[in-house]
Amino acid sequence: MSIEHHTALIVGGGPAGLALAVVLGGWHPHYRGSRMFSERYPQLAEYLAPRQDTLLGLDFRELVRSGVAPADLFRLLHHPRQRFEQLAQVAMEFRQGEPLDYLLLSQEPVGGLWNNAPRNLLTLSPGQWMEFAFYPLAQYAEEQGLPLDVNELIAKTDLIEYYHQVPSRFGQEEFIRTGEKVTRIEPHERGFLLTSTELATQRTRQYTCKYLIYAAGQRCQLRHLGVEGEDLPFVANQYDHPLDHPHHRVMVVGGGRSADWAATELHDAGRQVCYVMRQSRDIHWQLIGDSRNGLPYYARIAEILESKSPRLEVLYRARVKRIGRDGRVWLSVGGAERVVQVDHLVKEIGGIADYSLFTGFPVALQLEEKYDNYRFQVHQVRTHAHNYESVDMPNLYAGGYLAAGIGLVVIAMHGTTYAIAGDILQKEDRL
Ligand SMILES: Cc1cc2nc3c(=O)[nH]c(=O)nc-3n(C[C@H](O)[C@H](O)[C@H](O)COP(=O)(O)OP(=O)(O)OC[C@H]3O[C@@H](n4cnc5c(N)ncnc54)[C@H](O)[C@@H]3O)c2cc1C
Repeated sequence: MSIEHHTALIVGGGPAGLALAVVLGGWHPHYRGSRMFSERYPQLAEYLAPRQDTLLGLDFRELVRSGVAPADLFRLLHHPRQRFEQLAQVAMEFRQGEPLDYLLLSQEPVGGLWNNAPRNLLTLSPGQWMEFAFYPLAQYAEEQGLPLDVNELIAKTDLIEYYHQVPSRFGQEEFIRTGEKVTRIEPHERGFLLTSTELATQRTRQYTCKYLIYAAGQRCQLRHLGVEGEDLPFVANQYDHPLDHPHHRVMVVGGGRSADWAATELHDAGRQVCYVMRQSRDIHWQLIGDSRNGLPYYARIAEILESKSPRLEVLYRARVKRIGRDGRVWLSVGGAERVVQVDHLVKEIGGIADYSLFTGFPVALQLEEKYDNYRFQVHQVRTHAHNYESVDMPNLYAGGYLAAGIGLVVIAMHGTTYAIAGDILQKEDRL
């Protein structure tokens, strides 16, 4: 089998990997300043103003020493305030420079987990917080003639359409291979050796690269309940739409935001919903209370529960123990056994970041658990703060939420882009 070599490989075509593809593909940020940026961050404006070259050439190590994380700097340049008023507020612009030889591999179409998010789901954040700085949503809406309010939450269908447009809009289609799953990552004299499977043909391919960006996302391996009956045909691994569950009695197992969405939408579609979660009522209501004023579907679930709708029963401190072929589900609820008859069971129990692909390296990746009250939960790779490069494996970079220290903030999902691209281009002496 021949081995294809590239200077850089990106694993994962979600928001984190896709943004890196465009920037490595030659679209480089330059400081242009904006009134809003100068008013709010005068010291940064003064520091950046003399800079003629691309911002990818910044001394990121020095920036970190001065207390500015690269992801934060680019967030402020992109969003000098949280509300979008006009394109001129973005304090950087993108000019085409020399592309680097890179390839992006992803098992799904670009846009990552948004391809599989429920059809009617709204984002947790205003649309413009989900955009890339090189392609503001307002610009996209104008080019496409779409009536999008970029300060409102955006529908999943609109968001995924935006991500799908990015490769062709920025001339990167030929460097992005989707439908290909990376199955193994090993050390190699040229850097890294990757083995992948082309999903349509089951063909095996191999690649080597000097730099590897691992942007496979925080839920590339869906969790299992680990109980008998989990593979029965009426059990769904993910929720999309009520029409997928046409019969009346639906059990939703979960407790996070995706499960809340599924339980609410199924209830409102007229189903009898039994909502099963491990956590206590207090913890669930903390999330509802924190979210009901900003997110319409949290206002709705609060309303349903407070009105004591007979079609939504929530079982707290509950665990599924067994699923029968006849639709009976055995549960432990606060220690007591209960059996519920269902027509469908929807699992929305999240997923985990998968680092099991890395084999044969002299040291294992050090991971840190990141967790917050808003249900953000992921094992992140320990990285250097200035470039998001693994502290254990040189030239391996963690993209998006997989890099330690990246939390749930605006553009966090692709906040690692510029420091990673800058570090690689600086190492390659390309700036
Ligand atoms: C329901 C839901 C709603 C969310 N809402 C928001 C929100 O409103 N705002 C926000 O900022 N964040 C939100 N998030 C967080 C979310 O994680 C990000 O929006 C974003 O999708 C993360 O981008 P990513 O590129 O890191 O990962 P992903 O979007 O997960 O993309 C990674 C891609 O890599 C692929 N991949 C994984 N392993 C391999 C492999 N071995 N080989 C090849 N390809 C592989 C995956 O299939 C996937 O396509 C939400 C998450 C969920 C689950």
